[in-house]
Amino acid sequence: MHLIIAEKNISANRIAQILAGNEKVRAVKEGGVSTYSFDTKTVVGLKGHVVEVDFEPGYTNWRSKVHTPRTLIDAGTVKKPTEKKIVNLIQKLAKKADLVTIATDYDTEGELIGKEAYELVRAVNPSVRINRARFSAITPAEIRSAFESPTDLDFALAAAGEARQMVDLMWGASLTRFISLAARRGGRNILSVGRVQSPTLAMIVNREREIENFVPQTYWMLSLMTEKDEQPMEARHTAGRFTDHEAALAAEAGTKEPLVVTDVKEGQKNDRAPAPFDTTTFIVAASRLGLSAANAMRLAEDLYMNGYISYPRTDNTVYPKSLNLNGILETLRGGVFDADVAWVRQHRRPVPTRGKKESTDHPPIHPTGAATREALGQDRWKVYELIVRRFLATLSPDATWATVRCTFDASGEPYAATGSRLLSAGWRRVYPYSEAKEKILPVLTAGERLPIRSVNLEEKQTQPPPRYSQSRLIQVMEEHGLGTKSTRHEVIGKLISRRYVEGNPLRPTLVGRAVTDALDNHAATITEPEMTRTLEEHMQLIKQRERSREDVVTESRGMLHRVFDKLEAHEEEIGEEIMEQTAEEHTVGPCPVCGHDLRIRHIGISQFIGCTGYPECRFNISLPGSTWGRAIRLDETCEEHGLSHVRLIRKGSRPWTIGCPLCSHIESNIEALRMMPSMTDDLMQRLHAHHIYTVSEIAGMQPPDLSGVIGVDTGEAGQLIREAGDALEVLRRRSELKKFIRKVIPPRRGRSHAKITRNLLEQGIGDIRALSQADPAVLKKAGIGDAGATELLEAARGLCNERALREAGVPAVSLKKYQAGGVASPDDLCYLPIPYLSSKTGINPETVHKHVDLVCSHLGRPTPAKITKAVLERGRKELLAIPGIGEATVQRLYLAGIYDTATLREADPEKVSSITGIAEARLHDYIGHLK
Ligand SMILES: [Zn+2]
Ligand SMILES: [Zn+2]
Repeated sequence: MHLIIAEKNISANRIAQILAGNEKVRAVKEGGVSTYSFDTKTVVGLKGHVVEVDFEPGYTNWRSKVHTPRTLIDAGTVKKPTEKKIVNLIQKLAKKADLVTIATDYDTEGELIGKEAYELVRAVNPSVRINRARFSAITPAEIRSAFESPTDLDFALAAAGEARQMVDLMWGASLTRFISLAARRGGRNILSVGRVQSPTLAMIVNREREIENFVPQTYWMLSLMTEKDEQPMEARHTAGRFTDHEAALAAEAGTKEPLVVTDVKEGQKNDRAPAPFDTTTFIVAASRLGLSAANAMRLAEDLYMNGYISYPRTDNTVYPKSLNLNGILETLRGGVFDADVAWVRQHRRPVPTRGKKESTDHPPIHPTGAATREALGQDRWKVYELIVRRFLATLSPDATWATVRCTFDASGEPYAATGSRLLSAGWRRVYPYSEAKEKILPVLTAGERLPIRSVNLEEKQTQPPPRYSQSRLIQVMEEHGLGTKSTRHEVIGKLISRRYVEGNPLRPTLVGRAVTDALDNHAATITEPEMTRTLEEHMQLIKQRERSREDVVTESRGMLHRVFDKLEAHEEEIGEEIMEQTAEEHTVGPCPVCGHDLRIRHIGISQFIGCTGYPECRFNISLPGSTWGRAIRLDETCEEHGLSHVRLIRKGSRPWTIGCPLCSHIESNIEALRMMPSMTDDLMQRLHAHHIYTVSEIAGMQPPDLSGVIGVDTGEAGQLIREAGDALEVLRRRSELKKFIRKVIPPRRGRSHAKITRNLLEQGIGDIRALSQADPAVLKKAGIGDAGATELLEAARGLCNERALREAGVPAVSLKKYQAGGVASPDDLCYLPIPYLSSKTGINPETVHKHVDLVCSHLGRPTPAKITKAVLERGRKELLAIPGIGEATVQRLYLAGIYDTATLREADPEKVSSITGIAEARLHDYIGHLK
């Protein structure tokens, strides 16, 4: 069997279809993994890496005294499977294989993934032949030729990938731990540090600092408006920017008619067709279409996997000789691009354009298959069309422009105007992504005199450098040797998801700045591109077999140890610097009561906004628990309260924007305040003016204090406080009801507990007691099904009974025994005879009497007479002595209050029969025996 291992499932499927030709491919799932078989071949897809490198066991405890962050530098590593099902299947198939072909992507990462597969195969089959198929596009031609002439795995290339993996792991893990511990951050708030990530973040932070420190300079631009044949035209003073206001004013004053044309120079300009796409130029072009770097790459990979374009991770901007350009044009014929292809064929430039970078692994990104908008969907089509049009442009002639530059003299002040006209559109015909802006000047001749319609002096200011857009940042990363074509967009994605940067263009958050500053101050190696660039160079040397992986990793270890020497010496300072700078990220604004800062606090899963003036100031605003999302501060502020807006964010769900926390706090408490019968609008306003927003605040006050605050007499204040207490109690019961319902009927799709509770409230059911007495029909109306209604009623009754018994004073231990004996309600205790209760529960009759007495007096009912254990025992023996009466009958007689011969004698057989179910005739017999 010939086993073929592809990088992903989708490429496995395509490779199988291509290699099978006319033969049918059998797609079978084995152990949850798809396989594609034909002939004697089976193709299986990985999921990229199916194993991961991690530290040996023993390093998981961050706070370990033995395994400090620094020890991670020299810690041993192990490879662990991350995709067990795939690993198992590969090994199962490898045992049966007589040939294995690795067909992963052709680059460092792909080679490393291939080597991982190689090791999995070797572990179970040490002798099988393993070769490697290399291709840059998943197209029939490329795939067939790759499989016709397979090569060997390039262990040097894979080793370069491994070296990077190792170095990234030890730098990232050790520094992340160190910095997080120093700043006392854990859980979801850890501060991640990374080999490529940190210098990239530093570039964004430095740019922000440049912008902040930028001092704008004022300058002046002078222009005039003239016209010829009623066509207006603008000319600019040749001095350009005037930095001296006096000089600008003098030039303005000196600009007078006659305006004489001094020179007209005509020329031609070549507008070169663009070079083929590498990853970076592709990302830049895609960003103009509104696609983020990560999105553009995701779409491009998808197109590659499905055979529409070549491998999108490439540094090459020169088409290799072997690339069949005519073949590609042929592929694109007949579809949407038919007219463009025909035009390009007719006007084809002799040699395609080429960029500055040339490498041999992959060709520049180009189309490899025809597609339709319908088949691809909007976004994928956008990317595909861009790549097709770019390809066509690289084969098209340059565009040419006619240019003209006119100079003027306005009584001694020199002016100039330039114009341009497109002579031939060339490549612009097929690549309409950048607009060709023409500027047509009227026909002028030297010596001609023109009128001056106006003279304009404009005051302007120099602008700070712009923030980086994602695509610009990727270009700059490339210039600095940070990351690779495959990783740059991922690094930016990480900075965003770790909340180090935000917005587009990108700007650093407070945390991003704090971490960068701390590292900059104490171990600049981490934030400077130097170290990372060195590693990239070393990786190149590994690929060329000039250095070994071990050698490079060891050198990096040494570098990291030196970094730790500095960090450990300043651990406390680093922690304090970060904590001090990031305190602000939680500060929402001034406390309305005392003016200290209000800050978002997280304690376990609960979160709230508290005053830093605590405990003197107790003002606080509650927030929904962090299961709804973690509260963060936004940039917008409330005009009324001067507080930053707050949002709850949770991975994988839409953020919940609360807005101004105080506005929201006030809003959500108004309903409760209105529950107080004496509440008026005026009163509410006065309370708000004194920062009293909730019923619980009022309920917790003393009448003199409240009266002092809102100017009512203490009697009224007392009344308000009582009403607030009542409202609080109603709310407490409501929330208890809500929790109770949630507990009894579990949440389900389409059944909202909030809605059920609201409906019940409308039906006047506001607490568990009301629920226990509710009509089942009402519950159904509230949106609870039949089964749910019954269950809910029973549970509510049970809970109410239990509470009533407990309130009456029945101890918890006995309560359990009553419940176990089927005695659930206070009524049961009041009305069931004591002998019955005692025998059912095993509780001493005297104790039962004590409980019955408690419950009856609680309910205002008469207590039945006491019965002692001795009396009960004697009675039982008397009854058992009567022929025909056994234990079971005694128990039943207890239910009718009969517990000895005396009570039996006095009983009314008809009544006893109806209670106990014992036939009347038999009862007559028993009584007869006694006579
Ligand atoms: Zn305060
Ligand atoms: Zn507000």
